[in-house]
Amino acid sequence: MTSDCLFCRIVAGEIPATVVHETDATLAFRDIAPKAPVHVLVVPKAHYADVAELAKADPALAGQVLAAGAAVADAEGLTQDGFRVIFNAGEHGGQEVFHVHAHVLGGRPLGPMVS
Ligand code: 5GP
Repeated sequence: MTSDCLFCRIVAGEIPATVVHETDATLAFRDIAPKAPVHVLVVPKAHYADVAELAKADPALAGQVLAAGAAVADAEGLTQDGFRVIFNAGEHGGQEVFHVHAHVLGGRPLGPMVS
């Protein structure tokens, strides 16, 4: 936990969020500014800045984040029509919050991946 990290504070319950899935190691909550009918963020409870740092430090936990994303997609009814899981990383990746998170998006055709 880092006190100046937004998603650490959501994990700690200090900032409200609409939680849709939780495991011992992960938390999934709705994005505050959804880009699709379903837009959920999945984070490890432990703080890692981005997906590269997480995968290097704890690949098993990275797998748990992906598994939680798949569980969210299933629970949100996205598996039949499809969905997207995105990790933004760094400046060129458009990352704004530096606590690694997977975006789970779906509920409409999402179009080309890169703009
Ligand atoms: P990034 O650009 O870092 O990949 O994505 C950060 C995401 O966090 C954005 O989609 C943004 O809407 C979301 N976000 C920013 N602040 C909050 C917040 O306080 N609560 C929630 N639930 N989502 C947030």
